[in-house]
Amino acid sequence: MESALFISDLHLDPARPHITALFFEFLKNRAAQAQALFILGDLFEAWIGDDDLTSEPGLSVAKALREVPTDVYFLHGNRDFLLGEAYAERAGITLIADPTVIELGNERVLLLHGDTLCSADRAYQRTRAQLRNPQWQATFLAESLDDRREFAERARAASRDYTGKADADVMDVTDAAVMRAFERAGVSRMIHGHTHRPFVHQIDGGYQRIVLGDWYEQGSVLSYSSEGFDLQTLALV
Ligand code: MN
Repeated sequence: MESALFISDLHLDPARPHITALFFEFLKNRAAQAQALFILGDLFEAWIGDDDLTSEPGLSVAKALREVPTDVYFLHGNRDFLLGEAYAERAGITLIADPTVIELGNERVLLLHGDTLCSADRAYQRTRAQLRNPQWQATFLAESLDDRREFAERARAASRDYTGKADADVMDVTDAAVMRAFERAGVSRMIHGHTHRPFVHQIDGGYQRIVLGDWYEQGSVLSYSSEGFDLQTLALV
């Protein structure tokens, strides 16, 4: 691949229509020019199942993604991990695993959402293990949409409560988990989101960790081209 764009943590939500508008603008004007668009999780603030066909912005986002001529790849975040093949098909996007290694130019690069790197946050990792259990997911998806909506609302409130109280450092990545991920993948560059701390970290030993920003007050996009990587901010339209 010779050019690509990377985004994450848009947290699209009916409560923030200006961010959805910025995303549509981005799809039309930027993504359409790139060879590929990688969405590294938390595209949506919440996702309770592909069968929730009344849900906005899910439906209009599917339509907008489908209209982009670019190949779009998506890996799950901790908010939209239940997004499945049915929605992917509707949106014309390809689901990829977390983590995934891709080739950019001549280099192999590791992509992940980033939450697996936050290994000091034991409480979060315990919850994550439960929510990613296939049996738990099957049971959850068999519940009524109303029950699932209620669960998602409670989970969001609990998450707000927790992130408001927990030590900010505990919720960041750990050096050990980052190095393990580099070594396991056999790469020296990774791209992830989740922590909402956009930065390009140079790490001893010739490693680089690029962190994408969230789309709360602006957009955040990493572009890759023959000129290299460029982490940019998008102003609201
Ligand atoms: Mn996340």
